[in-house]
Amino acid sequence: MPLAIEKFLHTERLPHIWCPGCGIGIVVSAFLRVAIDLGYERENTVVVSGIGCSSRACNYIDMGTVHSIHGRALAVATGIKMARPKFNVVVFMGDGDGAAIGGNHLIHACRRNIDLTCIVLNNQVYGMTGGQLSPTMAIGDKATTATHGNVERPFDLCRLVEAAGATFVARGTAANIRQTEMFIKKGLQHPGFAFIEAVLPCPTEYGRRQGMKNVVKMLDDEKARSVTKLKAAAMSPDELYGKIVTGVLHEEKNVPEFQRTYAESAHALTRAATEKAPIPEEEK
Ligand code: SF4
Repeated sequence: MPLAIEKFLHTERLPHIWCPGCGIGIVVSAFLRVAIDLGYERENTVVVSGIGCSSRACNYIDMGTVHSIHGRALAVATGIKMARPKFNVVVFMGDGDGAAIGGNHLIHACRRNIDLTCIVLNNQVYGMTGGQLSPTMAIGDKATTATHGNVERPFDLCRLVEAAGATFVARGTAANIRQTEMFIKKGLQHPGFAFIEAVLPCPTEYGRRQGMKNVVKMLDDEKARSVTKLKAAAMSPDELYGKIVTGVLHEEKNVPEFQRTYAESAHALTRAATEKAPIPEEEK
């Protein structure tokens, strides 16, 4: 019997490129289940990605897709949302793609509060290019560019985007995918910039360098290190070191959304100049 998510998959392109045990497919499947649940159609849904293992999602998803350029997925998605405000626009990025090369686009998309849903697939490494350290890699972890262990402090992506103005921020893991799926659903329903970080295993370029080639071990480690937002609130910084704090970490509902504010402002100017009619329905 065909899986429901096949509706949104290019099954003729399978098998996929991802390594056995890679967590990317787990999160992409969760997104597709939510898309079905929310009644999305391929005609009004666009998925944009950058470059890297996670961005290959666009090759298999059968919706409107743009496999764009490294770090620029949010810029492309912003253009799509401005031109087609009623479309569901979703962005898949990796941690290197989204927070290093695309870090500037990320903070400004947050600041604008444009109605996009950004799912960052955080495997703490540059997988596709051969295991270089990424800005979310923990201190001491090994990479091809940190053979003696990383000495750079990692970004806490959720705190970063909250500080930059994101109005929905959540973190989940591939190990607890049903919870992450719920966060993706909430993010897609949020009327503003929604950011979901999904921590997931890359056994090939990350795990084997940390002595965890076995993906089951990696998923067990994710589970063991996960603490809910509620539990984390009662923990000291030392106790929280190395933990993955999960949950909806931040939510604001009354912040003006960028596309709508921009359209209203542009049409107010036009009306003032021409005394013309209100915003056309298709631009609302
Ligand atoms: S290199 Fe890592 S992230 Fe890339 S497909 Fe393989 S396991 Fe997944």
